[in-house]
Amino acid sequence: KPALEVLDLDFSYITGKPILSDIHFRINKGEMLAIVGKNGAGKSTLSNLICGFIHPDHGKILLNGSDIADKSIKERGEAIGLVMQNPNQMISKPMIFDEVALGLRVRGVPEEEVKERVYEKLKICGLYPFRNWPVSALSFGQKKRVTIASILVMNPEILILDEPTAGQDYRHYTEIMEFLKHLNETLGITIIMITHDMHLMLEYTDRAIVIADGELIADDKPAKVLTNEAVADRAYLKKTSLYD
Ligand code: ADP
Ligand code: MG
Ligand code: MG
Repeated sequence: KPALEVLDLDFSYITGKPILSDIHFRINKGEMLAIVGKNGAGKSTLSNLICGFIHPDHGKILLNGSDIADKSIKERGEAIGLVMQNPNQMISKPMIFDEVALGLRVRGVPEEEVKERVYEKLKICGLYPFRNWPVSALSFGQKKRVTIASILVMNPEILILDEPTAGQDYRHYTEIMEFLKHLNETLGITIIMITHDMHLMLEYTDRAIVIADGELIADDKPAKVLTNEAVADRAYLKKTSLYD
């Protein structure tokens, strides 16, 4: 069964003004793929639909073959972790340890187990040396990793990252991408990267799903997407190259 399947999905915020139309794709377990499109294409809307913050007008979302229409945000969150664009919007605790521990503590996990699981994920995320530091002492890239650790600690099957490299310089950008690739390869987590960055999808993903004006216009290997003139033009992929 695919890890995630989206079938004939339609969505509009305002009746009669479609934002997403007939979106359909499947993602296999352990894949690392990109959902690409220019600003306003509907990428964040799609991730919000998957996580249950909003609901489709038509169509289905299947997780491991089961329809999740009736699942709450919290229930979906056990399997699907969403890392939002700005870490500062996600972090609510002053101390790194407390931030990563939050989800477990809310669920009443015993403190001994909390410590064990938080330390394990801090190690994976390269943050263990900072375990007793305040969040405010970290760089943007490190804060991003704190938000990733706080989601990994819940052991999600799927990790969705909305614009993971937005606003980062090249060093942090590479650091984050290498780290995600490592997570995908070592933990086998399915990773969905939402991005407008063509370089990102070429370098790090196996497959790219392209959305333009709310429609899915390509689902193919990144190199093929980029060499398809009609698709690249419609999705403005060329204009977002780092090499322009
Ligand atoms: P992307 O993440 O690809 O930049 P979004 O999913 O954020 O695109 O937005 C898709 C479209 O939906 C845009 O036209 C945007 O203006 C519109 N939109 C986003 N959020 C809302 C909202 N809460 N209410 C009405 N329209 C919205
Ligand atoms: Mg339809
Ligand atoms: Mg967005």
